[in-house]
Amino acid sequence: MDICHQILEKIKRYDTIIIHRHLKPDPDALGSQVGLKALLEHHFPEKTIKAVGFDEPTLAWLAKMDPVQDSDYQGALVIVCDTANTARIDDKRYNQGDFLIKIDHHPNDEVYGDLVWTDTNSSSASEMIALFAEKTQLALSDQAAELLFAGIIGDTGRFLYPSTTARTFRIVSSLREYNFDFASLTRKMDTMSFKIAKLQGYVYDHLEVDENGAARVLLSQEILKKYDVTDAETAAIVGAPGRIDSVSLWGIFVEQTDGHYRVRLRSKIHPINQVAKEHDGGGHPLASGANSYSLEENEQIYKELKEVARTNQG
Ligand code: AMP
Repeated sequence: MDICHQILEKIKRYDTIIIHRHLKPDPDALGSQVGLKALLEHHFPEKTIKAVGFDEPTLAWLAKMDPVQDSDYQGALVIVCDTANTARIDDKRYNQGDFLIKIDHHPNDEVYGDLVWTDTNSSSASEMIALFAEKTQLALSDQAAELLFAGIIGDTGRFLYPSTTARTFRIVSSLREYNFDFASLTRKMDTMSFKIAKLQGYVYDHLEVDENGAARVLLSQEILKKYDVTDAETAAIVGAPGRIDSVSLWGIFVEQTDGHYRVRLRSKIHPINQVAKEHDGGGHPLASGANSYSLEENEQIYKELKEVARTNQG
């Protein structure tokens, strides 16, 4: 039996299904999580299906979480979407159920769960959920199609990143057949608030770029306060340096309230996830995240990024 049918068999066997995803969710985390929930609710109305995790205010327009009690986990099937490692799973109760399934498109650095489906050839976890529906011949609802579409747009940078494949286009083409407000969804995902536009101006103004295209910018707590933006809202400007022709890879160092730095790493061609892994992080070859615990470590990370850019020159 292929993995999608193995997952479906498990789903059929449980009355309660609780779906998790990663901390600090992005549209793909929510799209895959709540898209799967909508798909399953459509086909199994008799089951209790819940999406759990922190309700990220900047993405409340896309999806809302459900209240989940500890007792709900008793005898439940738990599915974790879009999360490579257990430390990143939002809501630590993920291991309180009866059976655990991992569905993810990141490199399988930490194998967890009783059943694992990872596919690094998928642009997004949302693409995997759409594929799951296709393979198991479960028709999507309009709501599920919209959420999965949003997730794919989010993780492919609207079909910009090389993770976008012919299959991605085939799948989004089929999602587009459903009845949802395509124009308002895609417009919403391309819109930023005025304060984010101003922060983007700050990023362009203060970006340091070396001769090989390694770039960095630091967003201190002071700057976040000045522009009135939260750490979560900085997601909107992570791609901005990539629009500059002389930039090949970059790090955005966001100071957290506890003084450490969340480092958002991106690259056009050369993998930077090794740098992320060496600094308490991980992720995709071209889109990863790290944590730095001092200004010295920030310097070290930038040094390593410069090294990646330098050794890949010519
Ligand atoms: P972000 O910059 O938060 O959008 O993250 C980019 C990618 O790196 C996403 O695929 C994340 O799942 C992954 N990532 C970010 N932070 C971490 C971390 N601390 N550990 C592992 N993966 C991470």
